Amino acid sequence: MPADEFVFPPAPQASLAVQGTDARFPIRRIFCVGRNYEAHAREMGNDPTREAPFFFTKPADAALNTPCTIPYPPQTEDLHHEIELVIAIGKGGRNIAEEDVMDHVWGASVGIDLTRRDLQAEAKKAGRPWDWGKAFDNSAPIAPLKPIADVPSVEQGRIWLAVNGTVRQDADLADLIWSVREHVAILSHSMSLAPGDIIMTGTPAGVAALVEGDVVTGGVDGIATLEVTIGPRA
Ligand code: MN
Repeated sequence: MPADEFVFPPAPQASLAVQGTDARFPIRRIFCVGRNYEAHAREMGNDPTREAPFFFTKPADAALNTPCTIPYPPQTEDLHHEIELVIAIGKGGRNIAEEDVMDHVWGASVGIDLTRRDLQAEAKKAGRPWDWGKAFDNSAPIAPLKPIADVPSVEQGRIWLAVNGTVRQDADLADLIWSVREHVAILSHSMSLAPGDIIMTGTPAGVAALVEGDVVTGGVDGIATLEVTIGPRA
């Protein structure tokens, strides 16, 4: 549709940087997996038995490319970091078989599922949706994507996060309760996946609060590293 047929100019396409090229990966949607590492499920007070994975979403324009500075978000006193392996879908599909999942994956990276933990806790208690705790502005800083052909593994490798140089989250992708092949296949039975979809695959234990001025670093070995600074309140 020509631009002059819209009542105002459409928003710019949300996108992620790609390692080794100036080309960008256009983001369609951001899916997030809940409670996908046993130790994190325990620290949040949940039974880590292998219940079916569940998902929530963030808007595409919640994604920011790292390195970046994010203003401390409004309406929270408990902003938490959650370091996560990020999967980028390049080929859509539905009812994808586990053995075919990697044919749909364009690349991988590392990101932070920033969480207003106090708002999430209120929502859980009231039986309300998690959106206000999870899907706020700037809530998904993500490092440049690595094309999947160059990714050594999405099934093992250290995943870590440090705040001001002190490591807080330190685990291995092998600890994922539901592997990439498994949770992408399951997701594709509920939603038709499309090129541009991003999946944040869940966080290991060690989530904790951030304050203004914190410098957050993190990574997944062999895939990507990131740096995010928490700025003053907007
Ligand atoms: Mn998360």
